[in-house]
Amino acid sequence: MRVLVTGGAGFIGGHLAEAFARDGHDVAVLDNFDPYYDTRIKEHNVEAAREAAAESDGGYDLVEGDVRDADLVADLVADADYVYHQAAQAGVRTDYSPRKYDEVNVDGTLNVLDAARDHDIERLVFASSSSVYGKPRYLPYDEDHLTTPISPYGASKLAGERYAMVYAERYGVPAVALRYFTVYGPRMRPNMAISNFVSRCLNGEPPVIYGDGSQTRDMTYVADVLAANRALLDTDAADGEVMNVGSTDNIDIETLATEIRDQLAPELDVEYTDAYEVDADHSHADVSKADELIGYEPTYTIREGVEAFVEWYRANREWYEPLVRGS
Ligand code: NAD
Repeated sequence: MRVLVTGGAGFIGGHLAEAFARDGHDVAVLDNFDPYYDTRIKEHNVEAAREAAAESDGGYDLVEGDVRDADLVADLVADADYVYHQAAQAGVRTDYSPRKYDEVNVDGTLNVLDAARDHDIERLVFASSSSVYGKPRYLPYDEDHLTTPISPYGASKLAGERYAMVYAERYGVPAVALRYFTVYGPRMRPNMAISNFVSRCLNGEPPVIYGDGSQTRDMTYVADVLAANRALLDTDAADGEVMNVGSTDNIDIETLATEIRDQLAPELDVEYTDAYEVDADHSHADVSKADELIGYEPTYTIREGVEAFVEWYRANREWYEPLVRGS
């Protein structure tokens, strides 16, 4: 099977490309190596997927290009059976103009959707985000919760997701949207809580919390995100549906920072700085819908996931740390 992963040189896309190549699929990656964080991390993502392809019967092609290039996207989608659309301007905290989010996350998504409408594909999976919810009215929240994003990023993800559902409804595109909840794991993006806390503690620097640390998060280990995506290769049960993909194991940021500090450098303090206005106070997924439709059940608690990440970090410290700390 030929699988196109847009944004496949990124964190989640890189894991998808690696897993699909290891499973023996023919993987094509479209990525423009956006320099929003150190692109050398992306080179490692590509390398891991290439190695997986070489060790199995899988194939791996890297196309350096932009999802905003409609012709290129159309050509690649025409060759694909499955499309995993991960390419995006990710992250709520950047200073980018809302137009950048719009161009990449909305127009880029429309290019993928147009191509999927014009070519027969088995499935299109759109990487959406818990940030579409904004400030939650109740916890944990299911997919029927109001969507009132509070950042340009969240607004752009909601627009992309809605377009995907409209294309499913009106044009029969077999599209599924997965709302990821704060994903972490090996080769994760810099400037996220877990990579920051671990890297600072291992370097004798206090972990720094944005705000008072009472924010809660449904941190999701990347292996669980992979499992949800993999399940969609085998079932059409979720076509035309939006589903939460979170760990359901909630933690507040102060506890997270303190536990990482206690484990790695108990002599350090924990420090606090200003909160980001665009950060949601709380995220907590109800994943019953994904469980019912695709058998999704998170397998990593946050403590297990952090332990796995720390182990990976130590083993890859030589190359990863300078890139994550330099960003
Ligand atoms: P990432 O930044 O590591 O990956 C995104 C990839 O897209 C990058 O490699 C980047 O170079 C590429 N890209 C950006 N603009 C592009 C363009 N114009 N053309 C082609 N490629 C482009 O981010 P990630 O954490 O791996 O996120 C993957 C997807 O999951 C994104 O759609 C993101 O919005 C979504 N998501 C991530 C999280 C998370 O916690 N990591 C949470 C919710 C949703």
